[in-house]
Amino acid sequence: MIDLEKDIQYVKGIGPKKAYKLNKLGIFTLKDLLFYFPRQFEDRNNLKKIAQLQNDEKATIKAIIVSVNTTSPKKGMTLTKIDIKDETGYAKLAFFNQPHIKNLYKCGDTILVFGKVKKEFKTIELSSCEIEHLTNDPKNTCKVMPIYPLTYGVTNKEIISIIKSVLNNEEIRIKEYLPQRIIEKYKLCSIDYAIRNIHNPTTKDALKIALYRIVFEEFLILQLGLFMFKNGTTEVDGIKFNRNEKLDNILDALPFKLTNAQNRALNEIIEDMESNKVMNRLVQGDVGSGKTVVALLALANCVLNGYQGALMAPTEILAEQHYISLSETLKPFGIEIELLVGSLTKKQKEKVLERVKNKEIDILIGTHALIEDKVEFNNLGIVITDEQHRFGVRQRSKLSEKGINPDILVMTATPIPRTLALILYGDLDISIIDELPPGRQPIETLAIDKGKRDKAYNSLVRREVEKGRQVYIVCPLVEESEAIEAKAATELVEELKLEYFSDLRVGLLHGKMKASEKDEIMKSFKNKEIDILVSTTVIEVGVNVPNATLMIIENAERFGLAQLHQLRGRVGRGSHKSYCILIYASKSEVCRQRMSIMEETNDGFKISEKDLEIRGPGEFFGTRQHGLPELKVANIFKHMKILKLAQQEARYIIGLDYKLQNNENKMLKREILTKFEHSVKEISLN
Ligand code: ADP
Ligand code: MG
Repeated sequence: MIDLEKDIQYVKGIGPKKAYKLNKLGIFTLKDLLFYFPRQFEDRNNLKKIAQLQNDEKATIKAIIVSVNTTSPKKGMTLTKIDIKDETGYAKLAFFNQPHIKNLYKCGDTILVFGKVKKEFKTIELSSCEIEHLTNDPKNTCKVMPIYPLTYGVTNKEIISIIKSVLNNEEIRIKEYLPQRIIEKYKLCSIDYAIRNIHNPTTKDALKIALYRIVFEEFLILQLGLFMFKNGTTEVDGIKFNRNEKLDNILDALPFKLTNAQNRALNEIIEDMESNKVMNRLVQGDVGSGKTVVALLALANCVLNGYQGALMAPTEILAEQHYISLSETLKPFGIEIELLVGSLTKKQKEKVLERVKNKEIDILIGTHALIEDKVEFNNLGIVITDEQHRFGVRQRSKLSEKGINPDILVMTATPIPRTLALILYGDLDISIIDELPPGRQPIETLAIDKGKRDKAYNSLVRREVEKGRQVYIVCPLVEESEAIEAKAATELVEELKLEYFSDLRVGLLHGKMKASEKDEIMKSFKNKEIDILVSTTVIEVGVNVPNATLMIIENAERFGLAQLHQLRGRVGRGSHKSYCILIYASKSEVCRQRMSIMEETNDGFKISEKDLEIRGPGEFFGTRQHGLPELKVANIFKHMKILKLAQQEARYIIGLDYKLQNNENKMLKREILTKFEHSVKEISLN
């Protein structure tokens, strides 16, 4: 047996040159290669007679060559025309720039050809052809052909031949990792069979069987992983809190009355806290719906019961903002709050950690610094994750492991459709804040072509600044690199100062700045010492400056809709009318569709549903939005039935062995861990 973790450049028949190309596709090990699945399959089994061919269909025919001609219609271009016949009629084949064809095929040869049929009057022509001599083992026709997702100069034929040669190697057997019990119960084929038939299907049925197995397995692994990392089950006994009467005093001290939706969410949370089961609750609420104060009240109630609380946010800016607003409200009640972020000095950190451990601190707020091993609580009672979509599932569960079955609350402004919620949060209770605080005006959104950029800057930005308002300008998303993004932002500031706003105060914010610098900038922006803040997506979440009323997003086509919606949520936070201008530089139909969705609605739920419709669920998973393992074959809409089966099975397994320690589950557990590990690594940890 060959080690599947082997670097592909050492695999027989690959070598460094091919390996380099494969690396570009994300293929590094033999296992990566074998699990690099086709995007779709083309059925070339459709063997027809010439007389049966229909216009526009793709088909395979067996025929005899009547003539071969090569011409050069233009300089540097060759056109090879082949006339063929069978017992029912004649047809033509055309090959552009494939001069070798004429050397391989000659009059009288019997061939198999697959191509797209063009039928005009009595002429039948096949284009984009695959041609080969008649054999018992045709390579490119008469079978189901896998079509791989490709870029970077690797052709489909190349990858087919690489995988084929690997699979022909006698030593390669892919070891089963699903328990035998499951294989039998769901009548699944072995992983070895599945892999072989996905890459090189012997028949259509074999392919079906192979795909079924992979779809089932992908769902099962996803579900099991989700259940595992959420501490298994909601049925665990937790802390029984009371609703402390001082909570009413805190409510009275707030500068506003809770909305009905906030009250509902709070009551649901308090009810969970009062029960002796562990709370596992998701609060979904659109941008600006006021989730922070709900978190604040839950934390306060926990502290009033004598326990500590933790609040984790994805960025330092957001953590600091939470720190400030929670301190304002809760310090007068004698509640001690501290901030733990990456940028503290070692000494400062040590002091905070010491005080947390000794319970001198009631609420610890921070970034993912909270989940570091050194952080120890005295008696952690509740764990809250804000903007949970920015964290991996494992990061979240690591925080709750710092207490003994603490209550768990996660908050998100990226609402997701029901179908998805069922998978992702199968075991979470959901509260929805579907009402904005009173007095908010909807944000008016306008998408404009890049050509109108000047006008947006010269008229709109100036108009808002003259009214005493402030403006955000968000620079394009550049790959996933903060360094490049930072550079782009710096350049944009220079450009804006030079070309448009030499008389205005322009500030800059990006992820590569020191926390103290970011802080400084945010403070000046809040204090109205900056008119225009140019920023990367670091302001995506949570930042709250009610006087900012205009947001301009450059190259808006590069962002996901949910992300645009998040960004847009930075304006419209006060009583002034707010605007969002999306500047796009793409003429594609998809871009147009997406922009008009943003123009039409301010409803985050609708936006995410549309986004899912356009992008498809495949892309939804495995991105930094969710930090889940990618579903390569499984599709939550198409394979709903299999999903339900896998979900049931996952519940059953978790119910018996929630840490997957039983012998039969060990291999499966390893698969889950690697898959989830992989996806968590991809999440940006700024
Ligand atoms: P998000 O849900 O996006 O996290 P925040 O919690 O940041 O929203 O709240 C947005 C703004 O709304 C904050 O300035 C907050 O003080 C204010 N706010 C929250 N609840 C209410 C309310 N019930 N009435 C008025 N303003 C509120
Ligand atoms: Mg928030």
